[in-house]
Amino acid sequence: MRIFRGKSVTDGIAAGRLQIYRKEKPRISRETVSDAAGETARFKAAVEEAVLQIEQLKSEALETTGASGGEILEAHRMLLEDEGFKAAVEAEITQNFSNAGYAVEKVSESLQRKFSQVDDAYMRERAADIKDVADRLLEILCRERNAGSRQVFSEPVILAAEDLSPSETIGLPKEKILAFVTVKGSLYSHTAILAKSMNIPALVGAALPLDESLDGKPAVLDGEAGILYVEPDEKTLKELQEHAKQKERMREEINLLRGKENITSGGRKIEIYANIGGAEDLPAVLENDAGGIGLLRSEFLYLGRQDYPSEEEQFSVYKKVAETMAGKPVIIRTLDIGADKQASYLKLQKEENPAMGLRGIRLCLERPEVFKTQLRAIYRASVYGNVAVMYPMIISLKEVQQAKKMAAQVRKELAEEGISCENIRQGIMIETPAAVMISAELAREVDFFSIGTNDLTQYALAADRQNPRLEAFYDKYHPAVFAMIETAVKNAAAAGIPVGICGELGADTALTETFLKMGVTELSVPPGQILLLRKAVRESDLKA
Ligand code: PEP
Ligand code: MG
Repeated sequence: MRIFRGKSVTDGIAAGRLQIYRKEKPRISRETVSDAAGETARFKAAVEEAVLQIEQLKSEALETTGASGGEILEAHRMLLEDEGFKAAVEAEITQNFSNAGYAVEKVSESLQRKFSQVDDAYMRERAADIKDVADRLLEILCRERNAGSRQVFSEPVILAAEDLSPSETIGLPKEKILAFVTVKGSLYSHTAILAKSMNIPALVGAALPLDESLDGKPAVLDGEAGILYVEPDEKTLKELQEHAKQKERMREEINLLRGKENITSGGRKIEIYANIGGAEDLPAVLENDAGGIGLLRSEFLYLGRQDYPSEEEQFSVYKKVAETMAGKPVIIRTLDIGADKQASYLKLQKEENPAMGLRGIRLCLERPEVFKTQLRAIYRASVYGNVAVMYPMIISLKEVQQAKKMAAQVRKELAEEGISCENIRQGIMIETPAAVMISAELAREVDFFSIGTNDLTQYALAADRQNPRLEAFYDKYHPAVFAMIETAVKNAAAAGIPVGICGELGADTALTETFLKMGVTELSVPPGQILLLRKAVRESDLKA
């Protein structure tokens, strides 16, 4: 038996064979691009990212393999920055209107051929380096196509990966994944959030060798203890099975709370809603008796694909969610892409600090056509249920006014086309310190607030939620974060609008009473947490 420890994202116990997640080499074909300048910028951004990756690997290699590993990587970096190579790729893009992936492959294959034909053995070896560098670039350029959906899973498995991006996680066949464990990754990333909404046990930060010694081996992942047992012995297996049965009994008890109110013994009520990523989460929402959808992270509809989801595609998802929830609130958050949630067709420029970059509402206001398509789909779906729209990453009143103006324009256009829609509620995420500081003013402009503690914590504490090395600084119990929540709640109450929490902190049952006391009116959590939260509310004796 081998034991590996990691950090627990979700609890639960899963048993099955381990399968190593392999990022597949993307298939490249030639496409004609209309925006050669944009494609060149995408290539340059990929080179920058590859250089950063190599720098990182170099410092790790110097620790583990000494100078020789570092020298190889230094050679790769020099190849990447070689002016001749870059100019040849850029010429292929601008002169022949080729896509960047094809241009990289064409130029690198021609270089490899030249190097493999020379007499000098050392120079012949350089062909392998060129291939390595090109593969790295292609992986970056084709990230979404490479989103995991092509890996075959013949049976449900425990997936072991170096890291999983949100787009890769989205691309996984959920029915085939019992649990996952990653070597890298942080507890507050969107991949961790996705594991919660899939309600499967998951660990991050486990030092696993991703090789044949693990691939295909029977294993048990104990999410609660944060341990992966590979080829567990009889005794351990029996203990884990007993533990799993105990958890099953607890779950059955919790399930008795279905259909019950979220009310304290003192008569104080609160709404408990679900956070979802799309229509595939609806069965879990119904099973766990959610009072509505407090956060539909619409950006997950945009990930793991090669082009924008059309208005029709989005409309059918929003309509399905609204109809399924049958009159219960459904809050659709507009596209919050950027930072760790990337889609190559968006052609976002590489940013030094993507979490503080062009994301969320900033990107939508900069690209009105993208925003408008989504708003049309949301407004069209509004007649099928109780839909509300929510804008992410707000820092100013002006942004809210611009978003509302766009929404009004969309309503007008729909009316002119004879398409009916409702005058739905419009709310905002409070997830930046700026929004907290001007929350009194913002509260007069919108119909509700939803506090995003995940981002609010990273911005308040200047601690990147993606960076596992900053977990000690990303202190979700920091008094500054609580003071900010309290300010936003107070200002919402003064303006007479509801205020919820849809960040991960809302699911922390140790804080439920604190939030109730503050005057939070809604908590929105992953579906699997709803009944546990209901239990905490019902066990409180807080007065009405
Ligand atoms: C948040 O920031 O708390 C939030 C709910 O949004 P996301 O986690 O999707 O950034
Ligand atoms: Mg957020």
